[in-house]
Amino acid sequence: MKVISSQKHIYFFSTEMNPVEEVYPGEKVVFETIDALGGNYEKIDFSKVNPATGPVYVNGAKPGDTLVIRIERINLPEKGVIVTGKGFGVLSDEIEGFHTKELKIEKWAVFFDNIRVPIHPMVGVIGVAPEEREYPTGTAHKHGGNMDTKEITEKSTVYLPVFQDGALLALGDVHATMGDGEVCVSACEVSAKVVVEVDIAKEEIKWPMVETNDAYYLIVSLPSVEDALKEVTREAVWFIQRRKVIPFKEAYMLTSLCVDIGISQLVNPNKTVKAKIPKYIFSEV
Ligand code: CA
Repeated sequence: MKVISSQKHIYFFSTEMNPVEEVYPGEKVVFETIDALGGNYEKIDFSKVNPATGPVYVNGAKPGDTLVIRIERINLPEKGVIVTGKGFGVLSDEIEGFHTKELKIEKWAVFFDNIRVPIHPMVGVIGVAPEEREYPTGTAHKHGGNMDTKEITEKSTVYLPVFQDGALLALGDVHATMGDGEVCVSACEVSAKVVVEVDIAKEEIKWPMVETNDAYYLIVSLPSVEDALKEVTREAVWFIQRRKVIPFKEAYMLTSLCVDIGISQLVNPNKTVKAKIPKYIFSEV
């Protein structure tokens, strides 16, 4: 299995990046990642956070395809760190100074002093070369990036639109656990090892999607939460309308009945929201 060293990392997803490795569809790859702050816990500079390991060139991936990434395993270390401070997070002007707290990690839990928080390993940053311009690895958009979405976890599958030849996949910013919203600006930030299997689907998607056992999550990241919520709703209705071949008004009602609209994160330059579409609606009685 190919191993991508964490020394090979990027701070920008751009249209032209030099691949550090080349893989074929169906191949498994190990990404060694460094934590979101790159080991510097004194401050947060949004132009230099969330280093993503890679990029990896996927042979055969062409613009208009979808890159399929199965997250097989996330290996965590024995400790992580959470940070917050003035200017960061949802309550950015209600806190003074800059604060760092080390968190112990055991097999099933992260310890916040003596409070046991269930472990939930997840990949914060996963993305490909964008369609145009460049995005810092701290920002999420159609190419993926810093989506900080809890469902990007072991045994889930991430779908990303391919905009450039070879897709150019990079990932990093693993969290040992996180609450939806990530309100103080960070989670239990760790360096980790992520094992994925990479594949290509010959179909086009507009925004990233995550598939779990029981649902599809459409993921939208935009500067305004309001705009993101509207777009993810539109996408959910369209997803259902297309797959079930039903009129817009039917799909709109079905979305209202069974789709959960949620928040992934509220603290990065683009805010990320998600629409959970349960799979049961695609199996009729
Ligand atoms: Ca993040």
